[in-house]
Amino acid sequence: MNTNNHYDAIVIGAGPAGLTAGIYLSRARLKTLIVNEGTVGGQMVLTHEIANYPGVESISGYQLANIMKKQAKSFGCDIKSNIEVANFELTGDLKRITTSEGNVYTSNSIILTPGGRSRTLGVMGEENFKGKGISYCATCDGDFFTDKEIVVVGGGNSALEEAVSLTKYASKVSIVHQFDHFQAFEHAIEEAENHPKINFVMESTITAFYGKENLESVDIKNLKTGKTENFKTDGVFIFIGYIPNTEFMKGKIELNKWGKILVKPDMSTNIEGVYAAGDSIAKRYRQITTAVADGTIAALAASNYLHESKVKNKELIAI
Ligand SMILES: Cc1cc2nc3c(=O)[nH]c(=O)nc-3n(C[C@H](O)[C@H](O)[C@H](O)COP(=O)(O)OP(=O)(O)OC[C@H]3O[C@@H](n4cnc5c(N)ncnc54)[C@H](O)[C@@H]3O)c2cc1C
Repeated sequence: MNTNNHYDAIVIGAGPAGLTAGIYLSRARLKTLIVNEGTVGGQMVLTHEIANYPGVESISGYQLANIMKKQAKSFGCDIKSNIEVANFELTGDLKRITTSEGNVYTSNSIILTPGGRSRTLGVMGEENFKGKGISYCATCDGDFFTDKEIVVVGGGNSALEEAVSLTKYASKVSIVHQFDHFQAFEHAIEEAENHPKINFVMESTITAFYGKENLESVDIKNLKTGKTENFKTDGVFIFIGYIPNTEFMKGKIELNKWGKILVKPDMSTNIEGVYAAGDSIAKRYRQITTAVADGTIAALAASNYLHESKVKNKELIAI
């Protein structure tokens, strides 16, 4: 075994969940590596302003990510960015990860924190206006649309529940949905249907986003008649699904039918010594605070596992 490439714990993903796990593990004097595809910080770095992280009134996602990174490094955590984990072997005492460049790292425990991404409409202008009128998170951005007329896209539980929650801020919410019925629980449908601020644009979809600096209008196509109309709006919230970054784990760890990692309350997975945390696990609320909390629990449980297995190994050697 190349001891330089061997760690007590390897964390896959450096979003808030992974960075927090790195802080706790390395502070517990465990040799820790975080491997991250892309920029350190994960989805946080896509966030222009974070106004709901306790103790920090307002901060950019990039700044918060850098503070967490600095904190992890100060305890000796090794962070390798722009490296994708392409494959791994999780079973047995010695875990092994292989990066897309072919480098191999080994460890006695693994914490999976690869996060995920919101499903996008994939239509003209969507990329340009992300964070400039287009949002995928009502809790994060609802407040920025106080007294504005906004659009919500989707017809599942998330879309309807978030549409109702957005009425706390917006003066009017138009729900655009591609079918003539919703795929949500009856109570969620009733609540939205009875809300005075909500109206419905059924059997329709957004086909383009327009604006100068910020979003100003959208094209809405009626899928039944084929007719397209331009609709003035300052904000569009898209809730058409969430994709966990777990494609590379299929068949190696227990996932639910949506590809989310199944964990127990201590964030352990179905494989001994392997933990998961953050947006990639099967859970309802996806926020920085919840990712940080999951990362803490996973790191503490992994530390405990490493300690207990060391004790067990010593006992076995003594026998
Ligand atoms: C636009 C936007 C705004 C938001 N605003 C807020 C807000 O204001 N407040 C709030 O609390 N939450 C906000 N959120 C949600 C919050 O950012 C997420 O809940 C949180 O970042 C999830 O953390 P995570 O560590 O689980 O995953 P992520 O942040 O997704 O990080 C996962 C990391 O793992 C890496 N990774 C994935 N696969 C691999 C692989 N195979 N190998 C190596 N690395 C891999 C990814 O590249 C990424 O860097 C926002 C999200 C978005 C998209």
